[in-house]
Amino acid sequence: MKTIYFDNNATTSIAPEVLQEMMPYLKEMYGNPSSTHTFGGQLHRKVEEARGKVAGLIGAEPEEIIFTSCGTESNNTAIMSAVESLPQKKHIVTSAVEHPAVVNFCKYLERKGYRTTFIPVDKQGRLRLDEFSKAIDDDTALVSLMYANNETGVIFPLMEIGEMLKERGVLFHTDAVQAAGKIPIDLKKLPVDMLSLSGHKLHAPKGIGALYVRKGTRFSPYMIGGHQEHGRRAGTENVASIVGLGRACELAGKNLYSEMSYLKGLRDKLETALLKLCTDARVNGDTESRLPNTTNISFMYIDGEAILLRLNEFGVCASSGSACTSGSLAPSHVLKAMDVPAEAIHGSVRFSLSRYNTQAEVEKVIEIMPGIIEELRKLSPYGRQKL
Ligand code: PLP
Repeated sequence: MKTIYFDNNATTSIAPEVLQEMMPYLKEMYGNPSSTHTFGGQLHRKVEEARGKVAGLIGAEPEEIIFTSCGTESNNTAIMSAVESLPQKKHIVTSAVEHPAVVNFCKYLERKGYRTTFIPVDKQGRLRLDEFSKAIDDDTALVSLMYANNETGVIFPLMEIGEMLKERGVLFHTDAVQAAGKIPIDLKKLPVDMLSLSGHKLHAPKGIGALYVRKGTRFSPYMIGGHQEHGRRAGTENVASIVGLGRACELAGKNLYSEMSYLKGLRDKLETALLKLCTDARVNGDTESRLPNTTNISFMYIDGEAILLRLNEFGVCASSGSACTSGSLAPSHVLKAMDVPAEAIHGSVRFSLSRYNTQAEVEKVIEIMPGIIEELRKLSPYGRQKL
């Protein structure tokens, strides 16, 4: 059975072009870029070339890019750096719908004496800007807000928020792990100080990420050790993956607009058909300001996990909430924050597409979903009540 992979916000496949570019660095070119001999030293040039490509995707300068091991490390580093750079300030502002890599790090800092304000969102998952401006005070070191939500795809208005923060002397970080490579990002215009991205969400391997730190921003390293990354992130460089991330960013940038419209076309076809063919279905999240590849649909009165199991029998991979939290049946904190009713939260399924998905795959899912929903509704006590 052929797999239909509609779970690209959890992780993506490595693009063939990326793998090809990485291969020499997994085999014969295994040197250490810090070595003085040519065998190792030649890799330094390759790392710098990749840095330029990552910078190119987001409108940054190469020297503003620090390679890390993942999005989580980039987020943790940004937050830690902000609080260490502004030691007199003890307050962090973030949102109620952030990834655990931000939420749990803020909670960790709370145990060390910091304060966090989690800004609420409305029913569409949009940031409550009225609450936001009230939350900033003289003690605020950092505002950390995601660019786009991993569960719903909702995009936050970072430009507007950045403008509001300009006069406040507060550092501004964005977790752009889901946005990078999917929508245009231009740090020449966007007033953020730090930005996180992750390779495995944009067809590079797992275990590589990057943190953008705007020139002139005070920075305090998280990983302490050798002098790599100009002392900003110690540890021998993961050269093959850095090369892969560079190539993935280059590919994403080159085809960004055509891919956005291709994915939006596929996603809208899937979403429109499922809403039409399945009873009691609704989309979660603002459909105006959303990643082009993501739809989060609640099939009321049934269990999302049961839908996933049935889809799995057809070779279809999707997700109920974020992959990091599935496995536990705890309701998604994102949908809860959006005040989605419990019966809709439990029946929510996220479909997230990539450039490798096809019309035929979308048609297959449209063909099987109504039957799955009907069948599960008959089995579910809520569904029986409803019928
Ligand atoms: N931030 C967001 C919005 C994510 O979706 C993820 C991964 O799901 C992360 C951070 C963590 O990235 P990584 O898996 O590279 O640590």
